[in-house]
Amino acid sequence: MSRDDRFLGSILAGAVGDALGAADEFEPIHIIRELRGPAGITDLVPAFGGLGKITDDTQMTLFTLEGLIRGHAHLRRGGQTGLEHFVQSAYQRWLHTQDYSWEDCRGPQNTSLEPDGWLITHRELFSRRAPGKTCLTALMSYGNNGQMGSFTHRLNTSKGCGGVMRTAPAALWPGDPGTVFGVGAMAAALSHSHPSGYLSAGALSVIVRHLIDGGTLPDAVDEAFRQLARWQHHEETTAALRVGVRLAEQGPPTPEKIATIDGGGWIGESALAIAVYVALATDNLDEALLAAVNHSGDSDSTGAICGNIAGAMYGPGALRPSWLEHLELRNTIEELAADALAEFGPEPPAHSLWERKYPNS
Ligand SMILES: [Mg+2]
Repeated sequence: MSRDDRFLGSILAGAVGDALGAADEFEPIHIIRELRGPAGITDLVPAFGGLGKITDDTQMTLFTLEGLIRGHAHLRRGGQTGLEHFVQSAYQRWLHTQDYSWEDCRGPQNTSLEPDGWLITHRELFSRRAPGKTCLTALMSYGNNGQMGSFTHRLNTSKGCGGVMRTAPAALWPGDPGTVFGVGAMAAALSHSHPSGYLSAGALSVIVRHLIDGGTLPDAVDEAFRQLARWQHHEETTAALRVGVRLAEQGPPTPEKIATIDGGGWIGESALAIAVYVALATDNLDEALLAAVNHSGDSDSTGAICGNIAGAMYGPGALRPSWLEHLELRNTIEELAADALAEFGPEPPAHSLWERKYPNS
């Protein structure tokens, strides 16, 4: 399997995992079993008015990817603006899709009358899918005062999983694993200021990077441990990940075993640990995605993150065809992933259409 296939697999399977968990994000496992049968979720179920609808997890992952493409294109054209500004701007465009006027989202330094670029032209993105409060609040505050969240400029004490659920795309950023970790963590720290909120995000980016480079999941997790150890206040994230790894040594995942990981996937380190546990303890994509959404916690986020990991392991060809067929925005997701691979590939596009699709802002 090629690196491109693995990356596409990561993004597509993340979206499918998100869609599989969308209807039952807030349901405990006994209700999921009552609603879906004794085996729990075994197929797509309607959510947000249809089958295969994505949630805020995938929406924000797409905007992360867009921000990285635009930031990378800017830097290779000799631009001086930091990558974080491009990712922040992409998140402000996502905020605009959540029923906020562009004037309230764009930030005081930005005077554009309309959000630009290709991604925001997709009207299907303009839909609220239970967006996380921390993300909304942090981005609204940027829209108001132009102050970016960072490792040193803390906006809150949140370690919700809204950071890690959107940072798989940082796997494509060029450089060593330390650089990739830093990009993923930076993207999460724009909204989540607790170390476990952004270090779990950096860890996911590094895991996906290692997998798309052809490595195994156990080695990818070891790389994540190495990178985590270089950061202050990593202990909580490291400990959660260790719980996930240890649990994977005890056979196939069950909702009851997942429940022994603290936090139900609602917080960053917990969501990462559940996703890694399930990916380690299964041997195919179908099973991994279903196990990742069948528990009492944040099913769509753990489904999305596990999909990001397992999709990079098994590739897009391993996705159940009926799931792909129903996946909302499938063509857009595939085109954006292909564009990212072009931008981060050996010969990035240089034509003017590209600059219109991914403007320098
Ligand atoms: Mg969600």
